[in-house]
Amino acid sequence: MRKADYDLVIAGGGPAGLTAGLYAARAMLRTFLLEKMTPGGQAATTFHIENYPGFPDGISGPDLAQAMENQAKKFGLAVTYGEVKKISFQDPLWEVEYEDQKVLAKAVIVASGVEPRKLGIPGEETLRGKGVSYCATCDGPFFRDQEIGVVGGGDSAVEEALYLTRFASKVFLIHRRNALRAEKIIQERAFQNPKIEILWDTVVTRVLGDSEVEGLELQDVKTKALRRLKVGGVFFYVGWLSNTGFLKGTANLDEQGYIITDDQMATSAPGLFAAGDVRKKLLRQVATAVGDGAMAAFAAGHYIESRRWP
Ligand code: NAP
Repeated sequence: MRKADYDLVIAGGGPAGLTAGLYAARAMLRTFLLEKMTPGGQAATTFHIENYPGFPDGISGPDLAQAMENQAKKFGLAVTYGEVKKISFQDPLWEVEYEDQKVLAKAVIVASGVEPRKLGIPGEETLRGKGVSYCATCDGPFFRDQEIGVVGGGDSAVEEALYLTRFASKVFLIHRRNALRAEKIIQERAFQNPKIEILWDTVVTRVLGDSEVEGLELQDVKTKALRRLKVGGVFFYVGWLSNTGFLKGTANLDEQGYIITDDQMATSAPGLFAAGDVRKKLLRQVATAVGDGAMAAFAAGHYIESRRWP
């Protein structure tokens, strides 16, 4: 029977995966973390995080992510860049396929997070990178002194609209209802910001432009009237999709594709745990992700110790 290459493989290097890696490394588990981009996940694309305890003046997302990675590596976590393609249970081990490699592990923690949801309107895909963006921290500086749109009414849309006022001359926050979903403290800041104009009860039906974004076609959801808004760029923050395609039926998901776990982060499959935004949960924050990661690593360690292995 084949032996495991590792005790634990962690799929995803955001706050949940890096915390799981830190705890697993300190527990002396032979651990291997796979990250398809740069570590830090969604947090690393956030300009300023001010609700993660311990940083009264806030901390930049990239700085927090880097510190988490350094801390986990200091205790021996191996971080490899690669995208997980498939995981499958080969009793009693898990096989993890990434790039053109395969490794066997006694347990796996899925911490693969989420990716931006697309509206699927004409122009959105064709003008991506030409004025259509899903990351204000990455692309905001390209829109200095321009008028731009931000779509959505949640924490992401409102926070990133505020951030974008550093560069843009004006930010139209376009929301489909007449009330924001974002935290009240963030809403207040948006209401007070003279550069932000909120377009209530409005949806974007088309991104206009040939080689780059020139404007948006908007629809009033009540009157159904269409109009055009001239903008040089648009940022979409209309929710997220879970990165669970590689699970291919190995664990139970909810109707939106998030992984269902118990309170010890165990999924429906033996030795398969999940942590962070990819999990079905009420609150997706760095603070809740690190708690998930710690619990998942502890539970995975307990699972590994309680069994006999080839
Ligand atoms: P979200 O809370 O799911 O909000 C998505 C927004 O997009 C909602 O306002 C929604 O409108 C709108 N929307 C969805 N589908 C749409 C469509 N087809 N057309 C037009 N608008 C559409 O997503 P999020 O803001 O990215 O936040 C995700 C999670 O991360 C939340 O748990 C949030 O608290 C957390 N987060 C927290 C912070 C923070 O604490 N500072 C920062 C960022 C994210 P409706 O309101 O009408 O549904």
